[in-house]
Amino acid sequence: MFDNLSDKLDRAFKVLKGQGQISEVNVAETSKEIRRALLDADVNYKIAKNFADSVKEKALGQDVLTSVSPGQLFTKITHDELASLMGGESTDINLKGSPAVILIAGLQGSGKTTFSGKLSNYLKKKKGKNPMLVAADVYRPAAIDQLHVLGEQINIEVYSDKENKNPVEIAKAGITHAKSKGFDVVIIDTAGRLAVDEQMMNEIAAVKQAINPSEILFVVDSMTGQDAVNTAKAFNDRLDFDGVVLTKLDGDTRGGAALSIRSVVDKPIKFVGTGEKMEALDVFYPKRMADRILGMGDVVSLVERAQEQYDEEKARKLHKKIAKNQFDFNDFLDQIAQIKKMGNMKDLMGMIPGVGKAIKNMDIDDDAFKHIEAMIHSMTPQEREQPKLIDGSRRKRIAAGSGTSVQELNKLLKQFDETSKMMRLMGNKQNMAKMMRNMP
Ligand code: GDP
Repeated sequence: MFDNLSDKLDRAFKVLKGQGQISEVNVAETSKEIRRALLDADVNYKIAKNFADSVKEKALGQDVLTSVSPGQLFTKITHDELASLMGGESTDINLKGSPAVILIAGLQGSGKTTFSGKLSNYLKKKKGKNPMLVAADVYRPAAIDQLHVLGEQINIEVYSDKENKNPVEIAKAGITHAKSKGFDVVIIDTAGRLAVDEQMMNEIAAVKQAINPSEILFVVDSMTGQDAVNTAKAFNDRLDFDGVVLTKLDGDTRGGAALSIRSVVDKPIKFVGTGEKMEALDVFYPKRMADRILGMGDVVSLVERAQEQYDEEKARKLHKKIAKNQFDFNDFLDQIAQIKKMGNMKDLMGMIPGVGKAIKNMDIDDDAFKHIEAMIHSMTPQEREQPKLIDGSRRKRIAAGSGTSVQELNKLLKQFDETSKMMRLMGNKQNMAKMMRNMP
C-alpha cells in the first residue's frame, strides 16, 4: 500500500541525513522533494503544494532540539501533516434512527455491493447490531444475486424485488420490511453507472429525499486516483454525503485519492476496503494511515486484528489438549485457519515496523499454507489424530495425494513434532522451570 510514496518520502528525508541542523537551504530542498513525492502519488497539485509549504513553515518555526535529528523532525512534522490532511481524528458511522438507514452510493465497479456486505458483517459482529440489506440496483440483476450470495455467506437477510424497477419504492418497501421484522439497521445498495450521469444522480437523489437516511456513504475505488476525487466532488455536490469509503487499498494504489479526497469534499473517510473477503474492511484512522505511509508500521492495527480473531473458548480447549499431549493435526489446521482469517499475509507482515520494505519484493501470498493444508487434508482422520501412525508407505500415499513430495511431508512431520513438544513443555510450569535451568 502506497509503497512508492513511502519510498519517495524516505528519500526526501535522506537529503537531511548527516546534516546537524535545520537550515533554510535544506528545508527548501526537502520540502521540494516532499511535494514531488506527493505529485507522483497522484495528489492534486494545489494540495501537494500547500502541504509542502506547510511542512516547510513548521520545520523552520521549530526550536532547535539537540535530541532529534533534522530527519526525525521532518518525519514527525510530515506525519502529523499527513494525518491532518486525511482528517485528523477517525469519524464514526451514524447509527441513529430505528432502524438506522444507510444509503450506499458510488459508480459501478467501485465496490458498493461488496462494501454493503462487509458493512453489514462489521455492524453485526463488532457493533452487536441486527442489520438487513436491501438490493436496490435495478439495472444490474446480477447485483441483486451478488448481494444475496454475500448475505447467505455472512448470514444476513437481503430484501429484494426483481419485478420492481423503481429504486425509491424498493428502498421504502425494504425499510418497512425491516421495521416489521425488527432489524435495527438497513443498508441500501444502489445502482451505479460507469461514469457520473444525470439520470443516476437524479435517481439516487430521489431515494435520498424519499427515505431521509441517517447516513449516506460514498464508495470509491482508490485505484482511480484523481478521477476518484472528481467523482467524489460530483456526488457530494448532489448528495451532500456523510462519509467516504475507499476500496481496493490492497491493490497497487498510489495514494492520491486517500490523500486528496478529504480536503476536496471536506467529508471524512470512514472505512477502507482491503480485499475481496467479507472481513477485509478497516475503520479508517488518519494517524495510523500516516504511520503506514511513513513506514512506521501499524502495530496497533496488527494487535487489534489478532485480538479480534482470538477465541477464548477455543484457546482453553487447545490448552487442555496440549497439556494432555493430544495436540494433533486437526488443531494444527485450526491454527492455520486462524492466521489466515487475519487477512493477507503480506499486508499483515507489512504492518510490522521495518518489515514492510524488506518484504516488498518477496513472493508471500495467501497460499503460503497451501501445501501444508493439502498434506493434512490427504491424511486420514486417524492419521491426523495419531501422526505416529504415518510410516513409510503412508508417507508416499499422502505426498502423492496432496501433490507434494515425501521430503516436504517429512519436514512437516518434523515441524509438527517439534511444535507439539515445545507446546507441551511450555504448557507445564514445572517443565518450564526445568527448561530455563538447562539454558546455557
Ligand atoms: P459495485 O458495482 O460498485 O457494486 O462493485 P462490486 O461490489 O461488484 O465490486 C467490483 C469488484 O471489485 C468485485 O470484483 C469485487 O470483488 C472487487 N472489490 C470490491 N472491494 C474490493 C477491495 O477492497 N479490494 C479488492 N481487491 N477488490 C475489491
